[in-house]
Amino acid sequence: MSALWTSEAFVAATGGRTVGRVPDIRGISIDSRTLDPGDAFFAIRGDRFDGHDFVTAAIAHGAVVAVIDEQHAAALSGAGAALVVVPDVLEALRRLGMAARRRTGARIIGVTGSVGKTGTKEALRLALSRSGRTHASAASYNNHWGVPLSLARMPEATRFGVFEMGMNAPGEISALTRMVRPQIAIITTVEPVHLEFFGSVEKIADAKAEIFEGLEADGTAILNLDNPHFARLADAARAHGARVVTFGAAATADVRLVRVALHPDCSCVTAELFGREVTYKLGAPGRHLVGNSLAVLAAVDMAGADLALAALALADLRAPKGRGARFRLKVGEGTITVIDESYNANPASMRAALALLGQTQPGPRGRRIAVIGDMRELGAAADDLHRALAVPLAEAGVDLLLGAGPHTRALYEAVDHRHRHVWALESEGLRDELLDLVRPGDVVMIKGSLGSRMGPLVEALRQRF
Ligand code: ATP
Ligand code: MG
Repeated sequence: MSALWTSEAFVAATGGRTVGRVPDIRGISIDSRTLDPGDAFFAIRGDRFDGHDFVTAAIAHGAVVAVIDEQHAAALSGAGAALVVVPDVLEALRRLGMAARRRTGARIIGVTGSVGKTGTKEALRLALSRSGRTHASAASYNNHWGVPLSLARMPEATRFGVFEMGMNAPGEISALTRMVRPQIAIITTVEPVHLEFFGSVEKIADAKAEIFEGLEADGTAILNLDNPHFARLADAARAHGARVVTFGAAATADVRLVRVALHPDCSCVTAELFGREVTYKLGAPGRHLVGNSLAVLAAVDMAGADLALAALALADLRAPKGRGARFRLKVGEGTITVIDESYNANPASMRAALALLGQTQPGPRGRRIAVIGDMRELGAAADDLHRALAVPLAEAGVDLLLGAGPHTRALYEAVDHRHRHVWALESEGLRDELLDLVRPGDVVMIKGSLGSRMGPLVEALRQRF
């Protein structure tokens, strides 16, 4: 296997002083537990851990070089691998990421948005891989260390590079996009997420629009014409000299939804791209993913990849664990369907998940059960945003609501009493009620913010049945 980085290129990019002979590098890691032999280990300092405490473990797992700071140089010399000693390890990773960006001839796509970044990035990985070597960020590696790490991992011979960019505050996307320098920038949607840090959705839109600051000359902005903040984003994109390509259900969208049939486990979509009609199957369900897929096709087309192959590939898309993945469990003489949305939640993804539940038909005697935990980080609007879910809940035909958390209480009280089952302060308080409640034919959707700990309820169902 050819090296990801030659020794010379690696040392030149990271800068710093070498101790011992640095070999060619096969991969880049910041986590000793997932490191592969031949990797370079960067001792990044996080909120809770300092990578310098794991250098020895990394070397034991096969790291061939560790990038560390001066303070730790003396203690780690003789640790058993070459060292690159730098003033700031994160800065060294950034430099390597930027070197990867400079050396590549790949078409680079940046993805941001309040929701749908990872899903869109994964759909792009699938769709572009059919046309050429594709490199995309792992997991949700979208922050100040995730983006440079993802860049640094991009092989030189890459044809398409896809990078997710996220943020919790203004200025963050700006720093990331200047490293990524995309030719194509996608903003999936702008929604009230992290509202408590921003104060208004307009400010969130502006922070997302920072992605255009790093856009290459003659770049393309792919924007959601159905989103109320479209005009604000389009103005910002044009101010940076970008061409704006629109997607959505709106009749004037460049990439327009013509028809869609929503099924419980997939969707059949017909879209029109600049006048060309494309029909495809999307292998993961939900109207929200249909919207994202239009952005994917727009980017595929703009990147010069094969549209027909991309459309075929989307049939293989799957909802990831905790984000819409569904499974069946045997209960008594029948089965229940569980829609696992426990990974995270905000108003947009909660509505999407409720729509998905509404789209799923329970068996005879079965019911639609929504198990909902608090959506966090919504600031002063939290109770209102929870209460407002009563409408999509009713539209989805939810028979029973199990709610957890102080904000969800506002929703619970807004729901017709016939559809309330139980409310508890903590998700743990729903466990026994849920296990007693389910019967054959039920469809159970479980969703809340990570901090609301809804995942253990999914596990409880798995363990019991
Ligand atoms: P994170 O900030 O956690 O990295 P993300 O932006 O990467 O999130 P995804 O992981 O792709 O988002 O999706 C998160 C959830 O939002 C999933 O449950 C998904 O089904 C839902 N979702 C995806 N796209 C949309 C959309 N356009 N509108 C509403 N919900 C969506
Ligand atoms: Mg993500």
